[in-house]
Amino acid sequence: MRLVLATRNEHKLRELRELLSPHELEPLPPEVRLPPETGETFAANALIKARAAARATGSAVIADDSGIAAAALGGRPGVRSARFAGESATDEENLAKLLREVPSEGDRRVAYVCVLAFVEPAGEERLFEGHCDGVLSDQPRGTGGFGYDPAFIPEELGDGRTMAELDPHEKGAISHRGRAARALAAWLADSRPVAA
Ligand code: IMP
Repeated sequence: MRLVLATRNEHKLRELRELLSPHELEPLPPEVRLPPETGETFAANALIKARAAARATGSAVIADDSGIAAAALGGRPGVRSARFAGESATDEENLAKLLREVPSEGDRRVAYVCVLAFVEPAGEERLFEGHCDGVLSDQPRGTGGFGYDPAFIPEELGDGRTMAELDPHEKGAISHRGRAARALAAWLADSRPVAA
């Protein structure tokens, strides 16, 4: 199925294209403006983006809202992960702030959360969620992925590598986005079977 991805984040587009293949993911046309993410939850923000893009393009759309929650910070930065160090902060600035704020001797647990919203102009709306638990490393390591990946050590692998030290397949197999994408793909396979 052809789907528009309501994002300006090239990393999300690349990851979701691979995760959702053979569905075809199209980038959001440049003239479409996405509204501000004013929701207090990942689901609310994913729906804000997906509804606006479905209205503007007339196509079936998916939107990803995601972020990192640090236990020592009571779940922050959460929905504000992209703007943690300021409105136009870079990934490096956001990561540096997280490493400064989480005490080095304290609770280093973190979780990635991703909500994918599927919205069709005719009115169908569905949400799919994925989580990934991890701990924060002392220093950033690795060059893969994006955002907080250089300091996110996923628990499941148990070998101490950060998400940025995994290849894209390894990340997708355990990541919050991979889990949400597989739930969406399973639902699409059931509800939108491809004509033979
Ligand atoms: P938003 O969903 O566009 O509001 O922003 C999500 C933000 O969460 C990104 O800018 C990253 O900082 C962070 N984030 C989400 N997913 C990932 C990931 O897979 N790796 C690293 N950081 C992520």
